[in-house]
Amino acid sequence: MEVQPTWSEIQRAFALEIANRLDHAKFIAYFAGGCVRDEMLSRHPSDYDVATNASPQQVQKLFGPANTLLVGAAFGVACVHRRHESKHINVEVASFRSDGEYIDGRRPDSIRFATPQEDAARRDFTINGMFWDPKSEQIIDFVGGRADLQSGIIRAIGDASHRIAEDKLRMIRAVRFAARYDFEIEPATWEAVLAASNQLGVVSIERIYDEMQKICKLSSAASATQRLHDSGLLQVIWPRLEQHFSESKTFLADTLSIVDGFSEPSFSLVMAAFANQLLRVDKSFTSADIRSELKSHFKPSNEILDEVLFAAGNVQILREANKHSWSTIQPLLIHRHINVALELARTIAGHEASSLDGIRWVESKLQLGNATLDPPPLVNGEDLRSWGLVAGPLYRQILDDIRKQQLDGSLNNREDVKAWLA
Ligand code: ATP
Ligand code: MG
Repeated sequence: MEVQPTWSEIQRAFALEIANRLDHAKFIAYFAGGCVRDEMLSRHPSDYDVATNASPQQVQKLFGPANTLLVGAAFGVACVHRRHESKHINVEVASFRSDGEYIDGRRPDSIRFATPQEDAARRDFTINGMFWDPKSEQIIDFVGGRADLQSGIIRAIGDASHRIAEDKLRMIRAVRFAARYDFEIEPATWEAVLAASNQLGVVSIERIYDEMQKICKLSSAASATQRLHDSGLLQVIWPRLEQHFSESKTFLADTLSIVDGFSEPSFSLVMAAFANQLLRVDKSFTSADIRSELKSHFKPSNEILDEVLFAAGNVQILREANKHSWSTIQPLLIHRHINVALELARTIAGHEASSLDGIRWVESKLQLGNATLDPPPLVNGEDLRSWGLVAGPLYRQILDDIRKQQLDGSLNNREDVKAWLA
């Protein structure tokens, strides 16, 4: 049987092809950064980056303008792409560079082309600062990344305070990598994060949201949250949540334990867990408050906001679903966000070691086919009109009432409805 290559392998093959082609043209070409780290950890890299001494324009000339986007030419980056079935493989080909002065706590004002060693030195952490040379099949490690990878250490390259002062986003990245690989953040790097965490605000909401989405997807999202709390970063990311974490160790422990219970965490699920906890601990805090805080701290789409609030707001009713009428529960079960809501309710019930009866009942109902779960309405507005009811604002109310009785089984066909209306 033929084994299909994974997406990671497909990307790797393309990156290798690019490196070989650069090598034939007498350029240096190495795999760089995250993909080297992940391969050394026997993990599948999410993408492959190539570092080279060719300029973006030389890269474009070699691969042709149709296959090369000069996305960040000012930063020495070209993106070489190719179609693969319905998808696009993108490999970032970046020229070895050294960053100029950092202007706004996030980006350098300029770059200059540089040696591989200088390029390694501008990267954030030692484990992210290695190259792999496909030609010699050797790791090129100017920064001690291999040793730190083996010992499980996140360490800034160079002077930690200086590197974090340059780019404050690195603080969240440190936390994310530590949680993702279950590594320790080395003391000087950790001290630098503690000292600068209150300045995370210079980083744009978009970048923070991007990092938080990645953090919330980790199976170790709870330990990342603990580190965001310990570091002071959460104070900037979501002050109200941090306030409750620092006021009550039990509240923190409960919240982390819920997040830890998710089988497949996501931004929506983790935020729904936070939101539900906040709603429980502070009765004056409403769903509308949560919505506006999430909006201002992360700017997620309305769809994500709806998902978070639907899940956070329906935990209790789903846990007791078997005690409610079908017409109360049915609209929840056919809701597009039921899965996230159910996972949150299930995890919280598990965390409290309380009865799972309501959850099990919901799960069994969801197994019913759509025809049973969401039967077509017995009548519509047109029917009401043809039966002589004067059109008006009451229509909606009457139709809702009929639907309720249909779901609860007291109206079973159109004759029943007619009789009831009469
Ligand atoms: P992931 O698996 O999350 O993609 P990654 O290490 O590949 O992790 P990227 O954001 O894709 O992270 O960046 C690729 C490489 O670029 C990093 O490995 C690192 O060498 C460098 N890098 C990325 N962001 C920064 C930064 N803020 N400061 C310095 N170097 C960075
Ligand atoms: Mg990457």
